[in-house]
Parts: sequence; C-alpha cells; structure tokens
Amino acid sequence: MCGIIGYVGEQEAAPVIIDGLRRLEYRGYDSVGIAVLNDRGDLEVRKKEGKIAGLATQLEDQWPHGKQGIGHTRWATHGRPSDVNAHPHTDCSGDIVVIHNGIVENHRELRRKLVDGGHGFISETDTEVIPHLIEEKVKAGKSLHDALMSTIKELQGAHAILVMSKSEPGTIVAGRVGNAGGVVIGYGDGETFIASDLPALLPHTRSLVFLEHGDTARVTATGVDYCHEGLPITRMPEDVPLDALSAAKGSYKHFMQKEIAEQPEGLLDTIRGRALFGESRVELDEENLTPERLRKIERVLLVGMGTSLHSAMVGRYYMEQIAGIPAEIDNASELRYRNPLIGPETLVVSVTQSGETVDTLAAMEEAGRKGCLQIAITNVPGSQASRVADGTVYTRCGLEVGVASTKTYTASITALYLLALYLAQERGKIDRERMAGFLEPLARLPNLTGEMLKHEPEIEKLAHKLHRCKNFLVLGR
Ligand code: GLU
Repeated sequence: MCGIIGYVGEQEAAPVIIDGLRRLEYRGYDSVGIAVLNDRGDLEVRKKEGKIAGLATQLEDQWPHGKQGIGHTRWATHGRPSDVNAHPHTDCSGDIVVIHNGIVENHRELRRKLVDGGHGFISETDTEVIPHLIEEKVKAGKSLHDALMSTIKELQGAHAILVMSKSEPGTIVAGRVGNAGGVVIGYGDGETFIASDLPALLPHTRSLVFLEHGDTARVTATGVDYCHEGLPITRMPEDVPLDALSAAKGSYKHFMQKEIAEQPEGLLDTIRGRALFGESRVELDEENLTPERLRKIERVLLVGMGTSLHSAMVGRYYMEQIAGIPAEIDNASELRYRNPLIGPETLVVSVTQSGETVDTLAAMEEAGRKGCLQIAITNVPGSQASRVADGTVYTRCGLEVGVASTKTYTASITALYLLALYLAQERGKIDRERMAGFLEPLARLPNLTGEMLKHEPEIEKLAHKLHRCKNFLVLGR
C-alpha cells in the first residue's frame, strides 16, 4: 500500500504533504517523493530512497515554496527502490508530474511504443509510461483531465493516479481504476486535499468523497469536477463520523464487506518487493532460510486451523507442483496428538492470520521439539508464530476485523505461492523461463480480483435468493 497525497489551497503545500505522508507511514514504503508547483510557476521535484525523515531533512532550509503539490511513498513493484525510481515521474519536458499506486500490466508494450515515438525514459518503473502518455495527449490539445481520462483507457491493471502540470496551475487531476488503493478527496475552506487513506485527511477535514472505480476528478482549491468512465457525474461530499473505528469503515456497511473489497490491495502488497518481475526472481527477506538449509528439505507439512487450513490445502499443490517437494497438510489441533514422524528434513509451514492461534502455536512447539525447519505465514508482524518460526512470509493486509477470514485468506494463498517459487529457486529446481511463466499471472492477480469484485450486485441478488436454504450440496470431481 503506497501512500498518495495531494494539496491545493492557500497554505505552503510541502509541509502539508510531508505531514500527510507521515500519517500514511504505517502502510509501508521504500522511498518518498514530492512535487510542488512553486510560486514562479516551476515544478520542483524532490525524491529519495528510504524514510520520510530522510527526505524531510534534505528539504530543511530549502523547502520548495508553492501552494499546490503532490507526494508519494512508493512500495516498489517494478524497478528496485532507488532515488531515480521513486515517484513523482515526469514527461520529457518535465512539465507534467505523476504519482501512481498499482501496476501498469502492459507497461512493456507502452514503453516500446513511446520510445519508438521519441520519448526518453530514466527510471525502471512501469509508472513512467503514464506522464509520457499524458504528454502526448496534452500536446494534441487535450486538457490535463481529458488527457488522464484517455490515458487511463490505455493502461491495463488497477491504479490510483495523481497528475499536476505547469500548464494548468491550480489544478490536480486524480483517477482511480480498479482496486489498487483508494483515493479520497477532502474538502476544506478554500483548500482541497487528496489522499489514499483517511488518516492523512482527518486532521484537516471530515467532508469527504471516496472515488469509485472508474472515477476521475479535476481538483482545485475551491471545488472538484468528477467524471465516471469519461462522463460528468455529481459526487456530494459526506461527513465521516468522529469515532476512529467508524471512520476506518469508510463507506462500507460493515468491516467484512470492506475487507472483501480490500483483497486486490492486500494481494498487491503481499507481492510487492518479493516477485521481481523484471529479473524473474522471488526475494524473501529471511536470512535464516539459506539455500543450504532449504536444500535439505525432503518434505513439507502445512498446518493451520479453519480458513488457514484451507489455504494450506491449496499451498500443498504449490509445494508439490512448483517446488517439487512431497507435501501434506494437517489440522494444527491434531498434530501433537499423533506423535508425527517429522524431523530436521521436514519443513513445517504454519498458516495463522493472527499469529496467535493456540492450536497452531502448539503444533509449532511440537515441530520445534522435533527439530523441523519452520516458516510461518501470518498477517501480524511480531506475533508469536513469527517469533517461533525460522522465517516468516507476512501477508500484508492490514488489520482484519471480521471473524471470517477474507483478505487474509487470499493473501495467504499468494504467500504460499511465492514460498513455493522461492523454494524451487533456492533449491535450483526452476529455470528463468518457467519462473517467468509462474510470475506473470501474479502481476495481473490484483486487478483480476478487482474485476471479480465488480460482480457484487449479482452476488448480492443471489444471496437474497439463497440465504434461507438449510443445506447446500456441492458436487464436483
Ligand atoms: N508500480 C509502481 C512502481 O513500482 C507503483 C508502486 C506503488 O504502488 O508504490 O513504482
């Protein structure tokens, strides 16, 4: 979940943006950048790998002065974390700046076409195609908002995008396609804020519009014009309640509905920095899982309870078919009662959303006694499961309030897929081409999940029809 901030109003933009980015810090990131349209009408871009504090220190004594700007915390998907790859990205002339959350799935083709058309690129990111595409449309006479709308039509994938241009001072345009992360617009008094999430806006205003999929907005200090899929639409700001929990629920009826809708973002964040699409590699940040240790594994035992056990069932296929290691699953609560024949040659993978599931922890204790290598799949950093395991693959879904697992279920399956690929890679059992074949669909997964979620109205109708049934018989083979 990268963070996005925009501001246009009467205040100095840079401090407002840096403060907003700090409030989104909990979302995770690897680099930071801002762009301010300064009082002379020039765009000033400052970006840096690492923490917000690093950029803020660099800015001291030389803050760009201007009343409008955009800022971004990046969590890399395409191109390693670096100063150059940090957002904002610009077009050839440096007159247009763009920040982006999501994956441009067709960035290779678009880049090739743009390079053939004479555009120069400086970063390794997928995002950089966006300012160049917008540049072409602006040159052809379109307004910035129209240029964004027609650019969006060319991008595959899910995106949240903010754009600013020297040629349209006083304006920021924003777009949301699919579910790569939210875009919320906050109405102040003679100023307007944009952010990917509420915590950045609540200190300034509670009067908000949440952009829907397919929405774009032309934002100025005194108002916002909205379009939905290219056609003008009215969106009225709503006041969010004061208590933090209801505020966090946003426009959803209940948390479970929100968490179902958050799957694309949870999947994207679980993939980020791990699936290295350009290099056809998987990187897991776990120094204990050395290739020497991983090569000794002769079988995998996946354990979990309830929904986690179901993701383990899927994971078993990945371990066998991708990593080529015999794999079994077990109900965590059963394991310790049957004196399992496991030992140092067994990799035990424990799936637990909270990382505190009592039965799963007991199974891990048993596995520890038998000297097994242990990997936890969990959503909660620092939880007991992550402390006991030799390595952890976190699902990065944020808090799951609903008791029935939704977003953490699909993210656990994705984490197991990455783990199987990593095992295959570190044990030297997969070549580059096969790896690329397994990685390619992962880049499309968040957006495809978002597409599926668009069927909510049909699913709701079906639910009304079926909810009184006492039994379901599900057949298959
Ligand atoms: N795909 C873009 C990149 O790698 C955006 C990443 C993000 O959402 O932070 O730069």
